[in-house]
Amino acid sequence: MLEPSSDFPANAVPMTPPAAYLSWWQATESCAQRTGRFTRIRWYVVPGAMTFPTHEGPKVGLWSRVGDEVRIAVAEGYVAHELVVRHEMLHALLDREGHPPLYFQQRCGLTWETWHG
Ligand SMILES: [Zn+2]
Repeated sequence: MLEPSSDFPANAVPMTPPAAYLSWWQATESCAQRTGRFTRIRWYVVPGAMTFPTHEGPKVGLWSRVGDEVRIAVAEGYVAHELVVRHEMLHALLDREGHPPLYFQQRCGLTWETWHG
């Protein structure tokens, strides 16, 4: 799920984050032992989609930061999927692409292989 900002889906529309997202953010801060501002993230949904295309292939979620603007897009089919949402939150907390195993696997288990729901 590496996410160049140029891949941000053009048909994504802004969404108000569902209530669960704040607690998911706090759980992600806790496992990562990092803190960040939840309200800084602008959330987007890709309507009617289970995936959206990027140059690296189809994705279900994507984090992007351009300057001070932090955006996360989620395919509509995954907006209630804790792993997908928290995976992108962890990118935002770490402010980076790529998946350092210390965070994505050991501390938080936020990959398909390590997720235990
Ligand atoms: Zn990723």
